[in-house]
Amino acid sequence: MRRNIVAGNWKMNTTVNEGVKLISEIIEKSKDLSDVKLIVAPPFTHIFSVGEKLKGTNIGLSSQNCASEEKGAYTGEVSAEMLANIGVEYAIIGHSERREYFDESDEVLLKKVKLALANGIVPIFCVGEELFFRESGDHLDYVCAQLDAICELSDDDFEKIIIAYEPIWAIGTGKTATSLQAQEMHAHIRNVLADKFGEKAEKTSILYGGSCKPSNAKEIFAQPDVDGGLIGGAALNADDFIAIAKAF
Ligand code: PEP
Repeated sequence: MRRNIVAGNWKMNTTVNEGVKLISEIIEKSKDLSDVKLIVAPPFTHIFSVGEKLKGTNIGLSSQNCASEEKGAYTGEVSAEMLANIGVEYAIIGHSERREYFDESDEVLLKKVKLALANGIVPIFCVGEELFFRESGDHLDYVCAQLDAICELSDDDFEKIIIAYEPIWAIGTGKTATSLQAQEMHAHIRNVLADKFGEKAEKTSILYGGSCKPSNAKEIFAQPDVDGGLIGGAALNADDFIAIAKAF
């Protein structure tokens, strides 16, 4: 009923040539994959070239961000309309690195989500707690508060989005949430969304992110409320990325 999704966040890695080589390998190695939707999120500079390679495949094209304003004097920004215009179908919004290093507030993230949706782009909305909140036992409440932005959406818009739960203490650290920790949080997220959107929350894909790799993906993806992964480091290696996708 829910879509299984494995999305690769390339972050600020690869040159255009390296990115094109990586996507060519991913396309080649994913030919026999049918029950999982692959998505790749290259840096802005490679989106067009990677998108050209993706034509005729089922692999989705994502950005790692989009501007919170529609257009105009915002030097250095890239709008949702510009991204949609070159074939971008998804946008990662609210990644913890954006929240932390670029001070992206819940208010700004909601503007991004709405602009992405207005331009036909599906937001992959990221939430996740720092170690402090996990250790103090407040992790469920913390993530619930991050979902307030999503709860402002109309039912129609809500139906389109993807959620990614990424505990910050697990991102790029080699430390993964246990499958039970992931399941507890994913079920909590779904309950919070169901309070607002009812049965529609049953159809929302909720991805896990944080040091996900071929060796741990199977156990994490086996949890009933985990519908796939948002992959960082391991998405830069075609074999690892495809092995994670095959963990379903
Ligand atoms: C991420 O940053 O989205 C991520 C999950 O990174 P990694 O897989 O490297 O922990």
